[in-house]
Amino acid sequence: MADAAPGRYAVFGNPIAHSRSPWIHRRFAAQTGRRVDYEAILAPRDGFAAALEAFHRAGGRGANVTLPFKEEAWRLADECSARARRARAVNTLVLRADGTRFGDNTDGAGLLRDLSVNLGLELAGGRILLLGAGGAARGVLGPLLEAGPARVHIANRTAERARALAGEFAPSGAVSAGGLDALPQGPFDLVLNATSAGVGGTLPPLPPGRWAAGAFCYDLAYGPAARPFLDWAKAQGARDASDGTGMLVEQAAESFALWHGVRPQTTEIIAALRRGMPAV
Ligand code: NAP
Repeated sequence: MADAAPGRYAVFGNPIAHSRSPWIHRRFAAQTGRRVDYEAILAPRDGFAAALEAFHRAGGRGANVTLPFKEEAWRLADECSARARRARAVNTLVLRADGTRFGDNTDGAGLLRDLSVNLGLELAGGRILLLGAGGAARGVLGPLLEAGPARVHIANRTAERARALAGEFAPSGAVSAGGLDALPQGPFDLVLNATSAGVGGTLPPLPPGRWAAGAFCYDLAYGPAARPFLDWAKAQGARDASDGTGMLVEQAAESFALWHGVRPQTTEIIAALRRGMPAV
């Protein structure tokens, strides 16, 4: 339901100073004529539940949740969407007036919208390589399989973690898994980097070979953290490459729609972020 009343919203994380969510949500609010107060809250690593509770009691109506609290947010939700239950991670909470919390995960929908609507990629029938098996990979895997690819292969530094994830999602589509050192024969149509290696300025240790030649390469990270992978993709002869700015804005638009009943326009906001990350 649309709600024109002003309300308090926030993103919780640790660290959080880098977050673009306050800027994005204020832009969405201005665009749709809503009165929204949206702040970034640094929660102590062992104090997310208490910080969320205090925000809710003080009149908070909704929260975004980022690293490292998405799994804890899933446990703290009284009720969850099917996609959040599958991901076992929540990035969006509706904080209800009766004190209960509804959890959703908009990461997968945000990625899918960026890939298919903004970048014009056809995922049905494609061969997809997903690097990483952490929270982001878990959040996007269900929606990726729903798009009907020929196969999704998950490759992770810790191979066992990739296998466990593939086993869990096997009923939803053709999914296989292994270590980074044992990639199946390419080529792939789409290579997604869902590792956090770029945060430390590095690449995941990828085996040599031109298995990504001709692929569309996409890093879920954005800004400087995506640079090592995007440079590597170019050197591999990738068809094209993108960072995760579009995913960031699209997952935020999904959250905004859940809270306010209207989905904002994203194109100009993605372009503005790409022109230069603005001050929050
Ligand atoms: P996470 O749960 O901490 O998982 C990290 C993953 O990266 C694991 O698979 C880990 O492998 C792997 N990894 C870390 N360092 C590595 C290295 N040096 N070499 C190879 N693999 C490495 O993090 P996450 O929540 O999944 O986030 C992953 C990335 O997605 C981050 O860059 C995050 O910013 C991005 N993200 C973007 C959006 C967006 O809206 N654009 C949304 C969500 C996440 P092991 O299992 O072996 O440890």
